Amino acid sequence: MSGCVGRFAPTPSGRMHLGNVFAAMVAWASAKSKGGEFVLRMEDLDTLRTREEYASAIREDLRWLGLTWDRETEPQSRRSAVYDRYWELLREQGLLYPCYCTRSALHSVNAPHRDDGTYIYPGTCRSLTDAERAAMTRPPAWRVRVPDREFSLDDWNYGHYRQNLAHECGDFVVRRADGVSVYQLAVVVDDAEAGVTEVVRGVDLLGSAPWQMYLQELFGFPHPHYGHVPLLTAPDGRRLSKRDASLDLATLRRHYTAEQLLGRMCYLSGLTDCPGAISAAELAVEFSWKKLKSEDICLKIF
Ligand code: GLU
Repeated sequence: MSGCVGRFAPTPSGRMHLGNVFAAMVAWASAKSKGGEFVLRMEDLDTLRTREEYASAIREDLRWLGLTWDRETEPQSRRSAVYDRYWELLREQGLLYPCYCTRSALHSVNAPHRDDGTYIYPGTCRSLTDAERAAMTRPPAWRVRVPDREFSLDDWNYGHYRQNLAHECGDFVVRRADGVSVYQLAVVVDDAEAGVTEVVRGVDLLGSAPWQMYLQELFGFPHPHYGHVPLLTAPDGRRLSKRDASLDLATLRRHYTAEQLLGRMCYLSGLTDCPGAISAAELAVEFSWKKLKSEDICLKIF
């Protein structure tokens, strides 16, 4: 083993669609091309949307694809006590404060927004007095104070990326009002505890890498390498979602072999020069980040 540890961290809220398969394929190939280890983790923090039967289907689909994992770590739904300990660590350092803002206030048109439509937290509850807090009637979410500082990374596919947390993100939530830790905290703790050295996932999460780097710094964890993969779009240009049943694995497995499916995704993403079938083992030899495209990939040949 090379000391490199990659991972795939799906949310089991439905059958995998090609976008998930693509992220898993690149994450697996990146780790295996270096002789590394591959870890699987179910991100089932949202117990209302996720189900064990979807987790089982994901495992079965990954096996069918040949994207095997060396170990599976505990699913997030069973780790609330671990996340609570890290939350406490931040709280003891005075880095957290309760936030009583409603969803509608945060998303209102007057709130500052980023280009992608998500809001930048303006710090409404940052300096409430104890008396003001005591007068609140709803349970609070908890936000971490962010510094007026840039966090930057060299992404294997998108190159240099930076974000000033105070200006481009604002203090962000680490625990919801119902006491459940959020993805941002859980992903950082889980990756670090599993010894993950490279985080490969969809480019929709590139923007949250600097937030995660900030938490890694606060907890004293090393930063992993990041490699984000382009999003796949349906032939009409829409981003794939779990609702695209025609492009989920239940349907695709009826029409393609695993090698045909991997071969087409490799071709569309620039990893290979022809759309012929390729096995996972062959891909581990062929794989190079240099060949991977960074623009969205249209699934016109499925
Ligand atoms: N659970 C997330 C998803 O299914 C991925 C998170 C990550 O890879 O960091 O989209």
